[in-house]
Formats: sequence, structure tokens, C-alpha cells
Amino acid sequence: MINRSKCKHPIKGIYILLLFFVILLGIKTIWHTGSSVEELIPALTHGDTAGSVSVPHISLGNAKYRIVIDAGHGGKDPGATGASGQFEKGFNLSLAQRVYELLDQEPMFELRLTRTDDEFVALEDRAAIANDWNADALVSIHGNTYTEQTITGTETLYRHDDSIPLAQSIQDQVVKALGFPDRGVKEEHLKVLSLSQMPAVLVETGYLTNPKEEEFLLSSKGQDLAAHAIVEGLKQYFGQNIPHKQPIENEMTEVPPPVSMTETYRQGDSQNEQSIQNKVYFNGSAKEGKQVALTFDDGPDGFVTPKILDILKKNNIKATLFILGNRAKAHPDIVRRIVQEGHAIGNHSWSHPNFEKISMAEAMKQVDDTQDALEQAAGFRPILFRPPYGALGTDQMDAIHQKNLAVVNWTVDTMDWSGVSSKEIMRLVHKELKPGGIVLQHTANGKNHLANTIEALQQMIPELTAEGYSFVTVPKLLHLPDSL
Ligand SMILES: [Zn+2]
Repeated sequence: MINRSKCKHPIKGIYILLLFFVILLGIKTIWHTGSSVEELIPALTHGDTAGSVSVPHISLGNAKYRIVIDAGHGGKDPGATGASGQFEKGFNLSLAQRVYELLDQEPMFELRLTRTDDEFVALEDRAAIANDWNADALVSIHGNTYTEQTITGTETLYRHDDSIPLAQSIQDQVVKALGFPDRGVKEEHLKVLSLSQMPAVLVETGYLTNPKEEEFLLSSKGQDLAAHAIVEGLKQYFGQNIPHKQPIENEMTEVPPPVSMTETYRQGDSQNEQSIQNKVYFNGSAKEGKQVALTFDDGPDGFVTPKILDILKKNNIKATLFILGNRAKAHPDIVRRIVQEGHAIGNHSWSHPNFEKISMAEAMKQVDDTQDALEQAAGFRPILFRPPYGALGTDQMDAIHQKNLAVVNWTVDTMDWSGVSSKEIMRLVHKELKPGGIVLQHTANGKNHLANTIEALQQMIPELTAEGYSFVTVPKLLHLPDSL
């Protein structure tokens, strides 16, 4: 569903949409005077040419087409309410994830999702994710709505003319697969499409307000058919030698899955290792000089996490990332990159519930499913667990220790997720950090794409280095193996 669909008079609808857009632009100009959001979204604010010229498709080697899959709506924005009362945002997310899983098996594509759970992502941020990454295409996934339940059919929307062939390719496949009426390919002035600087389309798979179409779209069979159709549409479109958008040198080399570290640790010198203690770690020992462990929670995502990893890599610093199982499942490639670049990983639950408010069985499932997802992505089961919000009952702690997991909280909470300034983050670090300390920051799910975290990290590294600190992973700080 998109705003337009709610309007009974299409012309009036377009005017309202245009007016809304103009007001929004005005607000953006007034509010964002030099704020950090602009730095994150250069393509939007520095007047890059829209629909930029593509690089010819010559000797690109293993370059892959970069596809951004956008699950429409999310969080406080539920989208349409289907005939059954279910929200469109859930349908969009589950279909987008199916598309992701299928596309992930195609060697010609590299992928990002704009959201991996029920979170609100602003329309301009969705386009920015695609622009910032130099994506070759953006596909936004939606279900339609109308006041009359009898309205049915599939349509695919675009804004810029260079998106028409992709829109048509996806439209043809989805119509063929689902068998709903073909409402065609249409131009619409939608923000996510207008702001995207690459072929960008929005597929309205069918009408969720029509009981029959909704039932089919929510069924596993319907979703499989729709997902395969979208993938087929992309394959057919890119199969005809479409030029790549990104320059070759930006290609990240493919990283092979790392070997399990288990054997290395069993064979290696393990005199320094200590077994997991029956406690929560807040810091390491101060006796070993000025060591600090930087930790980043709640990722990985396809947007902030790579930026953090780039900074760490540039400075040759190893950190520790506490990962959510559902995000590891959505971004196994980034989990592999994290491990490949020498960082430690820990379990941060599957979906970030407060453990003090869920049952023991639910808590254990959160932990176990995440261990499984991390093992699948990284090749080993980590030895660290950090409870969401640092909250854990004593029974749960015992059970988690029995799973060979060390429970690790932090010394310094930077509050970065809340959007505090990088200056405030650095003030807290200087005030609270002592040798052996553990610093808590985030790599996903914060305000303004965690621009403050990124900015603070670039100050923290030289400032702490100047104070004589060395950066170590949590397992190194606590003398624990990376895995058992
Ligand atoms: Zn967290």
C-alpha cells in the first residue's frame, strides 16, 4: 500500500502528495542545518546527478549486481490493514526475506535489506541505503489496499524512465506466477522511487483488502510464488548484460567462510585461558596495562555495520560485536566479514527481548537459536553472551553458563543508540573508562543511523591511543577462547 491508494480521487491524491513533499522538503531544510544525517547521506544532499551515467560492462570480473530489497512500511507505520485485519508491514517483511533468501543463492547478486525486523525506516533513508551503496537496483515490496474489497490485481510502480524495463520484467513475472489481474506498470511520484539514483521499482503484489488475494498472499505457497517471480524478474532483467552502476574498485572481495577456531584453541597454548566464571563480567583486569575492549551491539545491518567495520579495519583495531540471531540470519555475509577481519562475536539473543520478562524456555530458545545462526554464518559457536539491556535473572544466568557462555556486560555505556552527540559519547568515555574497561556502543537500530557512533569512533580511536590504551577483543581481555 502507498499513500495514493487511499485517495478516491487520483488527481487530488497527487496534489496532496506533492504538497506533502514540498512541506517535508521545507521542514528538512529548516531542521537539518549541519546535522550529521547529511554526512551519512551525501547522495541526497550534495546534489549528485539523478539517474547517473552507468559504467560500461567491460572486464568487470566477478562484480555482482547490487540489489536493495525494501520491505515497505514497518514499526509505527503498519501500511495497509488487510481484509483479515493483519498489517501489510508484516507481509512485506516476510516476502522480502523470502526474496532475500532466494536471491542469495544467485551468484550474480549482492544484497541488502532496508529492514530486517519490525522497525520504522524513513523513506529517504531507504533510498539513501541504495544510493550510498551504489546499488544497481532497488525493489520495494508492498501489498495494495482499497476501500472496496472487490478491487484486485498486481501493479508495479516506477518514477524515472530508466526503471521501466525492470518494472515491466518484475510485473510480467509476478502476474504470471500469481494469476491476479494485470494492472500494469505505472509512473508514480513516490519518495522511495524518486530519490533512488538507480532503477527502482515498487511492486504491489496484490490487494490485501481483497480477501482472496490476501489469503493467497499470506499463504506459504503464495509467498513462494511471489518471491520466485520477483527473483525471476530480476534475473531476466540483469541477465541481458545491464551495465553495473558501481566502479570496479569498490568491489569487496569474496571472503571464504572461516575455519572453525575450535581446533586451534584446543591445540594452541591455552595456559592463559580461564574457564568461564559463574558471574557477569563488567571489565577485565587493570593489572595488564591500559587495555580496552570496544563492543558493538544489535547488528549486523547492511548499512551502519559495514561503516563501523571499515573504520576498525582502517585503524587495525579488533573489536567485539554482540549479534542478534535474526540479523545474523539476514546478513550472514556480514557476520563472515566480521570474523574474517579478526573481530570477536558474541550472542545477543535472537530478537532482543528483556530476559527478565520472558520465560526460561523462551530465553533458552533465544540463546540456542542465535548460537545456531552464528554457527551457520561464522562456522563456530561463540563463547560470549550479552543479555539485551544487560538484564538477566539468576536462574537464566546459571542455565546460560551451562551452555558454556560467559555473560558479559560493560563498564561504559555510551548511550549512543539514543542519538546523544559524539561529544557526549567521548565525555562519558573519558569520565568512566579505566584500564580493562569494556565500552558499549551499537552497530544497528540507533537514531539517525548511528551517525554519532561513527563520528565518536573516529575520535575515540586516536584519543584513547594517545592516552596509551591498546584495543583488544573481549575474549582477549578476559582470557577466554573465542569459541569452545
Ligand atoms: Zn542490544
